[in-house]
Amino acid sequence: MTMTDNTAAIVGGPELPQERKLVTEIPGPESKKLMARKQAAVSKAVGATVPVFTVAAGGGVLVDADGNSLIDFGSGIAVTGVGNSNPRVVKAMAEQLNRFTHTCFTVTHYDSYVEVAEALNRLTPGDFEKRSALFNSGAEAVENAVKIARHYTGKQAVVAFDHAYHGRTNLTMGLTAKNIPYKSGFGPFAPEVYRAPLSYPFRDGGLDGVTAARKAISTIEKQVGAENLAAIIIEPIQGEGGFIVPAEGFLPTLVAWARENDVVFIADEVQTGFARTGAMFASDHEGIAPDIIVTAKGIAGGLPLSAVTGRAEIMDHPQVGGIGGTYGGNPIACAAALATIESYEQDGLVQRAQEIGTTMMGRLNALASEDPRIGDVRGRGAMVAIELVDPATNEPDAELTGKIAKYAHEHGVILLTCGTYGNVIRFLPPLTMPDHLLDEGLRIVADAIAAA
Ligand SMILES: *Cc1c(COP(=O)(O)O)cnc(C)c1O
Repeated sequence: MTMTDNTAAIVGGPELPQERKLVTEIPGPESKKLMARKQAAVSKAVGATVPVFTVAAGGGVLVDADGNSLIDFGSGIAVTGVGNSNPRVVKAMAEQLNRFTHTCFTVTHYDSYVEVAEALNRLTPGDFEKRSALFNSGAEAVENAVKIARHYTGKQAVVAFDHAYHGRTNLTMGLTAKNIPYKSGFGPFAPEVYRAPLSYPFRDGGLDGVTAARKAISTIEKQVGAENLAAIIIEPIQGEGGFIVPAEGFLPTLVAWARENDVVFIADEVQTGFARTGAMFASDHEGIAPDIIVTAKGIAGGLPLSAVTGRAEIMDHPQVGGIGGTYGGNPIACAAALATIESYEQDGLVQRAQEIGTTMMGRLNALASEDPRIGDVRGRGAMVAIELVDPATNEPDAELTGKIAKYAHEHGVILLTCGTYGNVIRFLPPLTMPDHLLDEGLRIVADAIAAA
């Protein structure tokens, strides 16, 4: 029996009742049954944050196989910014499904790919001529950004930062900082990848951004050398590494140094992109214009699509056929992306991200003022996190973090953790989440912290 036998009548999208409703314990009996099947069929290495099976999702909720309706504070890791099964996206995909499903863009072209490239060139920061290329996943796009930067500069070294996360393929594992779970046992890693210190205001003594950048630049000059360096790659706000917002001035100082030294500055906006931070891109907050910007997650309402967008002279440099892939820029994913981008722009979602951010920051700061275990509240727009510590020492408290997440899951809130030390709780609600669910979810998080 397949899941659809039970659940064929269930439809997701914003029409789903926007409520938290628990009808069984979490996980319930149906999810447990499915979990047993999963364990017998799927590699153990593929984990799950919340051990339930989804049958529908939309607005700000996710419904599981037992009929529990959970508040979604994760958006499938910052993917469904426009909401699951967004009606604009569903309609655009359905129309495309009935025309054709695939040609391979590098065999014959279709216009939706070009239109996605035009939209990215228009929306990304930087008032210069740009080109884009489309891929399937964030990691694949990061790999291509590095390939293109190497080709353009004729240099090989790449610098990534402490706490970075850029993916799980071989090159991107090497760029990623955290050993467990992402790297351990999976080496050897790609050569010519170096690491520089990040601006991490909560843990670097509050170094100002320019000083922190000078430290990073000094490391780069001493250990790599600009004459060997093709690219610097950085998340403007770090995602998996702990939602770390660098001090003001850090990013612009790095950009200026890169420009002076013929080094391509790559912003990995896979997690921060598309309205999430209360601007279309996180780079906009600091007024920087990266030479290359990598996007994925929020780009297509949940369809697998990613992009590399950058200065025309860099993007046009590699030989014809050097960039591409069988599925990159799939026509259904492109249709979804165009409808998703339309939703960000026409449904006021940039502003909605700011509103959600104001609510979350206010509530979490109020909690932090009464609870010294919340060492830091940070983020931008609807990308917010709390860092949990031992108040006596400021040492990371991963155990407390795990307890809070577990309580939230058991009480019907999907809550994600992150951070090098596993002591950060991150909030990434869909931008379509109504206020009453946001309030209720934050109340449960407060209960979880109190109970832990
Ligand atoms: C998720 C993520 C990636 C990897 O994207 P995948 O689609 O999982 O390959 C890369 N960079 C950042 C900043 C991410 O958050």
